[in-house]
Amino acid sequence: MKTAFSRRDFMKLAGMLTASAALPKHLTEVFAAGLERLAESTRVVWLQGQSCSGESISLLNSIDPNPADLLTRYITLVIHQNIGAAQGQTFMDTLDKARLTKDYILVVEGSIPLNMPKACIIGGRTFEAILLEMIPDAKAIVAAGTCAAFGGIPAAEGNPTGSAGVKDFMEHHHLSWRGKLINCPSCPTHPMSIVGTLAYLAAGRFPEIDETLLTPKMCYHHSTHDQCPRYHDFERKIFAEHFGQPDGCLFKLGCLGPLTHTECPHRQWNSGVNWCIRASAPCIGCSWQDFCRKKDFPLYRIGEASHAVSYTEHDRSGGTL
Ligand code: SF4
Ligand code: SF4
Repeated sequence: MKTAFSRRDFMKLAGMLTASAALPKHLTEVFAAGLERLAESTRVVWLQGQSCSGESISLLNSIDPNPADLLTRYITLVIHQNIGAAQGQTFMDTLDKARLTKDYILVVEGSIPLNMPKACIIGGRTFEAILLEMIPDAKAIVAAGTCAAFGGIPAAEGNPTGSAGVKDFMEHHHLSWRGKLINCPSCPTHPMSIVGTLAYLAAGRFPEIDETLLTPKMCYHHSTHDQCPRYHDFERKIFAEHFGQPDGCLFKLGCLGPLTHTECPHRQWNSGVNWCIRASAPCIGCSWQDFCRKKDFPLYRIGEASHAVSYTEHDRSGGTL
């Protein structure tokens, strides 16, 4: 049962959402209104396909608000394969009931096996068939995580299932994604990106999105590189020589920060405890659309010869990225 929240509680979380990504202050009101609606009336249907449940775990790892508050008080989550109590036929009946309301936001976690639909079955129905039923009546669709957004690890070169992200799935089935689909990549996606996007949608607004990546600009506008605390070292050509080195740009250790767009440098992870580069580990490009797609994609690489980004001296002096 939901416990009553005061306007002050909603404003507090909205303020955190805004501050954690250094967003303009006027968005606090939008988030607060959206959170209130998420808690009171907006249904969220969360489905998992070819996924490791990373997005759900990431959401459960949020500290403030804690997972119990987030899921039982802030979000009206009507369906979730891991967290929900409904099992078997009850689960499928709840899903059908939610669909008939035609009043829900659909969150998709994981990719969809386009060439082998039976590789992913829920309650005797293929994930593909369920999505074909749920997508048309959804008010909006949020592809949570890099697998749902771009295919991610299940779509790695040579995979037999023909894994696809939600956009490719919708195009394959001639469903229009414009003004309806929002990608929230990262492996896993940051809990505040999901909560912020859901709050924005529940407030009756559709966020401004990147035309190519379909990511909400409020959460994915900057490149990790641009905001990196080691950017000055990059500019001065001071490079770390080994993993764990507390100073120096990590580019020559394979850092893919120049290819990724996230708010990691601001938000960090585990409620601001740390993030990859602060831990002196290169960004492995987990929100990049080509993350782990190639067979020869090493997560770490030493030297520039095998780097996924080619730089010239002009680039390194701040030219193109
Ligand atoms: S290459 Fe990586 S470590 Fe270096 S400035 Fe860019 S994001 Fe930071
Ligand atoms: S720094 Fe890079 S690898 Fe680390 S979480 Fe952010 S986008 Fe992903």
